[in-house]
Amino acid sequence: MNDKCRVHPDRDVVWVSGELCGACENRLRSAQLRINRGLPITPTQGRTVHGMGRWPAAVRARFDEEELKRAEIDKPRTLARRLRGADAYGLRVSSRMTWQQIADRCGFSRDRDAIEAAQRYAELSDLCWPPRVRVTRQEQAYLLHGQGSSWHEAALALDYHSGSSARRAAQTHAKRHGLQWPPPNSEE
Ligand SMILES: [Zn+2]
Repeated sequence: MNDKCRVHPDRDVVWVSGELCGACENRLRSAQLRINRGLPITPTQGRTVHGMGRWPAAVRARFDEEELKRAEIDKPRTLARRLRGADAYGLRVSSRMTWQQIADRCGFSRDRDAIEAAQRYAELSDLCWPPRVRVTRQEQAYLLHGQGSSWHEAALALDYHSGSSARRAAQTHAKRHGLQWPPPNSEE
């Protein structure tokens, strides 16, 4: 006497009074979360929302039918673009890549497109813009010395216990990122 999912007739229902498979139930839940965050729902979520026909009472009791049916549905292309925006944003924060390098890596044709996608993602996700790039202590040592600080001063500023450990840290950074060594403008 197993029922089948109203949206997927090949799948048994796991939520009997709702007559939906587990995947559909999860999709409704995620769709509701996206709406609460001001985001359009995904095409797959849209298929569950609109593919159910008349909503059973059990579904209506747990999810806001009107709101879900009214929700804007992401076009697959927009969605792919948004995911790439998230990637671009993440790369910018965690690496020292330029926007052009990020564009190449994520498949944008121009750096401008990568920036726009990342900015849109930041807006939708309440993240700061422009992205705050994470600067490591090693990089700070490299930069400080390049700006004219001695290794000793860099060590004091960055809490290295000696000038030579600050220097080693900066050199590690330079090597890893293929930067000039010693840093340009330094007295060394
Ligand atoms: Zn289903």
